[in-house]
Amino acid sequence: MKYYILFGPPGAGKGTQAKFIAEKYNLLHISTGDLLRKEMAAGTPLGLQAKQLIEGGNLVPDEVVVGMIQNTFKNNKDVSGFLLDGFPRTIAQAEKLDEMLAESSEKVDKVLSLVIKDETIFERLAKRALIEGRKDDADPATIQNRIDTYHAKTEPLIDYYKEAGNYCEIPGEQTIEEVFQSLCDVIG
Ligand code: AMP
Repeated sequence: MKYYILFGPPGAGKGTQAKFIAEKYNLLHISTGDLLRKEMAAGTPLGLQAKQLIEGGNLVPDEVVVGMIQNTFKNNKDVSGFLLDGFPRTIAQAEKLDEMLAESSEKVDKVLSLVIKDETIFERLAKRALIEGRKDDADPATIQNRIDTYHAKTEPLIDYYKEAGNYCEIPGEQTIEEVFQSLCDVIG
């Protein structure tokens, strides 16, 4: 089983690229953000718990997203691989993922990291708010909180995966087609 992580700040293009990559390489795309938004839309207890955190631009608890990933792995034993989008976002999540994979003597194959400047995050999320109507994209203070949260909690994963030797960086400010091509070159 292949395990790829699509990594990067909000607005880096993870969701857009994940769809193309998952199709080309026959991977199951798992977006924890999409899964959480589905729970919110369905009004489940988990969705209600997550709503305030998400709309304030904060992370939901590690055990919530780890549980969703565990369930998805368990229920999809017949796929050829997974493309994780928006997970892991903390060192604790990354360690838990490594533990889960180690149970079946597996590991993360590659971390595909899309790099963009903070100013670009702002521009892209504000534009996306008009198209997708996500509350957490619409308010500048919430966007800033997501950027700060990314730097404080998620960015440390770069060193974590550099040490693991599977970290690959891709400039995220190219066109969608160019980013896709760069990702394909790295996946090989
Ligand atoms: P995304 O669609 O990936 O931008 O995620 C939207 C929101 O869902 C994030 O701002 C978080 O509040 C929450 N979320 C998604 N994935 C995670 C994760 N791995 N850990 C914690 N919170 C997450």
